[in-house]
Amino acid sequence: MKKQTPVFTFNDFTDPLKELENCALCPKNCYANRHKGGSGYCKSDASFSIASVCIHKGEEPAISGANGICNIFFNSCNLQCIYCQNYQITSHPAVNSGARAIPRVVRTTDPDSLSGIISQITAILDQGVNRVGFVSPSHFIPQMKVIINIILSMGYKPVWVYNTNAYDKVETLRTLEGIIDVYLPDYKYIDSNLAWNYSGARDYPVIAAKAIREMFRQKGASLITDEENTAESGIIVRHLVLPGHVENSLGVLRFLAEEISPRIHVSLMAQYYPTNRVKNHPQLGRRVTESEYSRVVEEMEKLGMFNGWIQEFESSDFYRPDFDNHHPFE
Ligand code: SF4
Repeated sequence: MKKQTPVFTFNDFTDPLKELENCALCPKNCYANRHKGGSGYCKSDASFSIASVCIHKGEEPAISGANGICNIFFNSCNLQCIYCQNYQITSHPAVNSGARAIPRVVRTTDPDSLSGIISQITAILDQGVNRVGFVSPSHFIPQMKVIINIILSMGYKPVWVYNTNAYDKVETLRTLEGIIDVYLPDYKYIDSNLAWNYSGARDYPVIAAKAIREMFRQKGASLITDEENTAESGIIVRHLVLPGHVENSLGVLRFLAEEISPRIHVSLMAQYYPTNRVKNHPQLGRRVTESEYSRVVEEMEKLGMFNGWIQEFESSDFYRPDFDNHHPFE
């Protein structure tokens, strides 16, 4: 990769931010002017609000590879899941007392600060990491495009990974065709009551299904990998099994196998653990049992879904990020 000092004229890259004057990026369709503050559902303005830029080695092998991935975690989210494992950075303070007050905002009028973010990313790329993941980017797609354009203009050519809750609009996803290399969407719920009770979005099953169809249209069933088996292009759908909700998980898998393709790559996750906010919740206050997880794995096999990954059952002991640390995953 070509090394270069980050020298750029900020205004050369900011065209995508115009879209934030009347924001309808995601299915919430707020039509908020984000250049005048964070009045939309996601409480995010037009700034580059980034919680962390770090190397993450704990994603799926095809995503992390041997050297890890440079993950860029945006603040806030366009879904507010009550059990969110990254709640420190994604939850709105009004919803979750454990969340930070919307923090670490880098203003668009501050090119030096954006330059700092770019320097953090390129410092990681210079260490031999050749992939960049945007985590929960649905409400920050224009800012994501600015970052991509700047990094490309500096001569770097990493694999770009779009790591999303899948609460995305098809029209917005179409603007990413030819830009994003690997889509990494969740498919959280097939059950709209669960989507409402846990994430405040009754339409999630329909919206996410359309989003995944669009990603699949762009990428197809094949996951193109390099000589080290890390993904260069494709789609991997993640599903987190929730305690007490095996039927929801079975429905998600059946949808993917029957309506998308049994060849689609699926990452079936066992890592759920109850955060403080839900520790007394009747369903969400415990971990998934081994028999619940095994039942879902069994269904995956029954449906002929052999592409992807299942997790070690003990994974919830390891995936506990702390975004108050400089390295949230160490
Ligand atoms: S990105 Fe934020 S402001 Fe824009 S439509 Fe979605 S929730 Fe509303």
